[in-house]
Amino acid sequence: MPDKKLISIIVPVYNEEKNLPLFYQSLSKTTSSLEDRYDFEVIFVNDGSTDNSAEVLEKLSASDSRVKYIEFSRNFGKEIALTAGLGCAKGQAVLTLDADLEHPPEIIPEFISKWESGIEVVIGVREKSDDQNLVRKAGSWLFYKIMDLIGETKIISGETDFRLLDQTVVREFNRFTEKGRIARGLIDWLGFKRDYIFFAAGKRKSGKTRYGFLDLVRLGFSGFISHSLFPLRLAGYLGILITVFSGILGLFMFLNKFVFRDPWGLAFSNVTMLAVFTTFLIGIVLICLGLIALYIANIYQEVINRPVYVIRKKKNL
Ligand code: UDP
Ligand code: MG
Repeated sequence: MPDKKLISIIVPVYNEEKNLPLFYQSLSKTTSSLEDRYDFEVIFVNDGSTDNSAEVLEKLSASDSRVKYIEFSRNFGKEIALTAGLGCAKGQAVLTLDADLEHPPEIIPEFISKWESGIEVVIGVREKSDDQNLVRKAGSWLFYKIMDLIGETKIISGETDFRLLDQTVVREFNRFTEKGRIARGLIDWLGFKRDYIFFAAGKRKSGKTRYGFLDLVRLGFSGFISHSLFPLRLAGYLGILITVFSGILGLFMFLNKFVFRDPWGLAFSNVTMLAVFTTFLIGIVLICLGLIALYIANIYQEVINRPVYVIRKKKNL
């Protein structure tokens, strides 16, 4: 019997006591249909749940040796939970999915077959769901639009954390040392061969989402900031614009008054001229801010210490 490939499944858990049994049931139904070809390990990361999730996980792991878990001392957030899970996954392929059944385990075989065909990052993309309210929809639309404009890597609307990563990708992911992180963004940054699987999002079975609108806004901003230098440069660009405009205007006023002796009778008041001059100076200050931003950007690059390059394969080395 040739060795079966090991597939790790990582599930961040925060107060999901009601969902966990359902999730486990649904997951084991799927994995049992694949058992003749693959071994599985399921790593739950209990992200400081305050309900009975810990007991539920203990029971599950006692009855099924493939179930493992990590328990955080407090809530660190989903991104960190994913990071911890990826750090100890041993599989040749690693799947990440939510515990609330919004990411249907039934489609795991599709992820695996894409992976077997050579794709290194398989991304679940949620098809438009109607249960999101308008503000959220508009917000996510805006986020993806801006990200597309200013980000370094391409992302498409609806990408989720329902993903399968090849072990090479996981190995590279584990090299990231930056603290403020969005797992998705980092995985996108890594590159590798990517493909998408579209799925209709299931409804959260029990409890409600932990991400309120403000959390999403915060997540969005940290996404912009950690994946693009554009917000930093914006001040500088604005400064250039203001300086050029007020500079030209000021020059025109000066020449008009003192050189040509106001041939059109515009009679700019002294206050107006002062205002234009002040605006000119503000523009210069903004340009300086933009310059400082460039230095900060450099420092930031060095501090987050991202790998300089990412290798897929080496041969004869
Ligand atoms: N989660 C977590 N830590 C948190 C918040 C959420 O591990 O601080 C887990 C949660 O248990 C679920 C997944 O992350 O498995 C997605 O969370 P949620 O459904 O609240 O987010 P949404 O689906 O709205 O993005
Ligand atoms: Mg959810």
